[in-house]
Amino acid sequence: LEEQVQRAERLALAGELAAGLAHEIRNPMMAVKGFAQLLREEITPAEQSEYTDIIIKETARMNRLIEELLTFARPPASGVGPTDINTVVADSLLLIEPKAARSGIELVRSFAPNLPMVKVDGERFKQVLINVLINASQAVDSDGEIRIRTFFDFADRTVRVSVADTGVGISPENIGKLFDPFFTTKDGGTGLGLSVADRLMASWGGKILVDSTLGQGSVFTLALPALEGDKDEQE
Ligand code: ADP
Repeated sequence: LEEQVQRAERLALAGELAAGLAHEIRNPMMAVKGFAQLLREEITPAEQSEYTDIIIKETARMNRLIEELLTFARPPASGVGPTDINTVVADSLLLIEPKAARSGIELVRSFAPNLPMVKVDGERFKQVLINVLINASQAVDSDGEIRIRTFFDFADRTVRVSVADTGVGISPENIGKLFDPFFTTKDGGTGLGLSVADRLMASWGGKILVDSTLGQGSVFTLALPALEGDKDEQE
């Protein structure tokens, strides 16, 4: 039954995104059509290469949108079950380390020992975390820093991962739009990452908290209810 509920939620999410996607794909599609028609006219080689570049860029954008939608419409990779958050964080960091090193970004980590387990789809949760980490790395300059910390919050008994960057920060007017599907400030961004991440977290009973100061940096905190009794909770 749980599997059926999850399937239904997944399809609902995909359906909701598909409606927005149709809209988002129409613009690049019209651009591709328009510039392809222009290529037929008598144009200079410089114009030809400009129009071709636009067509390639717009096609790539459509492809990213579809890829991102499919990532979440596909059945979960590992299924929902008790998961050790420190392991997921360590795995996610392994994947972004090379990119961070190349960009000169320092990754500072601190893991709380003996955290309780959480109930999530580990592979999906990894996608959520990687998304937040990539956003952080895109927000910081080459001398920037990203601090990743796992800890237990005794107030609401959640296991948390916080990702703090020393990046560009987010304006107060944009903070409220972060989780809207297709909201992006990036050239070539899809604006799907956080909206999907937020829904996935909610489907596991968790949430994403954001704290940001424009020009100083942002903290994204992923909070999940602790599965009690799996491990003791001393820090
Ligand atoms: P995308 O990365 O494709 O733009 P997301 O949904 O992941 O889509 O992010 C939406 C927007 O939220 C970004 O375009 C950016 O403006 C803002 N954002 C997300 N994370 C950060 C961050 N760490 N620092 C600054 N802005 C961020």
